[in-house]
Amino acid sequence: MRKFFGISREIARLFEPDAFLDLPGCDRYRAFAMSLLPVLPQIVTPSPGPPGGSVAGDGPSPPRSLPVSSGHSVLPAYFEVLFAAYGPQHWWPGRSRFEVILGAILTQNTSWKNVERAIANLRARRLLSPLAMQKASAARLSACIRPAGYFRQKTQTLRTFVAFLYSSHGGSLDRLFATPTRILREQLLGLHGIGPETADSILLYAGKHPVFVVDAYARRILERHGLAHPRTKYEQIRAFFESALPRDRQLFNEFHALIVQTGKLHCRKSDPACATCPLARFLPAPADSAEAILSSRVTLR
Ligand code: SF4
Repeated sequence: MRKFFGISREIARLFEPDAFLDLPGCDRYRAFAMSLLPVLPQIVTPSPGPPGGSVAGDGPSPPRSLPVSSGHSVLPAYFEVLFAAYGPQHWWPGRSRFEVILGAILTQNTSWKNVERAIANLRARRLLSPLAMQKASAARLSACIRPAGYFRQKTQTLRTFVAFLYSSHGGSLDRLFATPTRILREQLLGLHGIGPETADSILLYAGKHPVFVVDAYARRILERHGLAHPRTKYEQIRAFFESALPRDRQLFNEFHALIVQTGKLHCRKSDPACATCPLARFLPAPADSAEAILSSRVTLR
């Protein structure tokens, strides 16, 4: 019987929500299955900080109870620890697939609060459907999404996406997302203004395709833990996650959301709060850093 982090996949399936997306209300995501996993004790000890020298560290030294890993086999343990610490994240916030797509585009280079204001404007003007957006003028759309910043650029991206939806899939999100993952990903990446993180967010959170979304937080955590290099490419990090985990879109959904939570609460750009971070136990010891980073470079290149 196939196991999923020590839990029977068949048993875990019984407790999965059967809802569209993991939106608010779907609060049982693997809570039962994950509750059966042993929760590792968090060890907090004084430390000179994260390895690598590029991060201003004030956190604990890594506990020696878990081995430092230079490979991706440690990623399931990262998920387990983060899920135990934070619980389900209920991503992606949105009332429909189309709203999720809009959010994925609008959130580029801005905060989610600004995206919410833009979407509220679109909702107030009844523009939250492909058909309504197709008929709306660029000026009207721009006025709505101005709070999200880069509004001319994002207006163009939204219009490009909607034009593509109608020209290639007859305006149907069902047909769009019935496209095989690899082909649809290439199509999305071919649209002006849609990069890999946005494309993968659309595929995973709106289309339920099993692709892992790599964002700045994931990259930062891997780099600080000696598992990636600043020059490591997006696709390499995506493959790093996807090859380490079961190809399960709900797992990818939750893991990405947990990484974002870690980045917001602990792994900030400057002054990371390692002392209270659930992932502190995975930091390589200073003595192991050079070896870990060297190994990770070999792994990821
Ligand atoms: S993920 Fe947590 S422990 Fe690791 S470097 Fe960031 S703040 Fe520190």
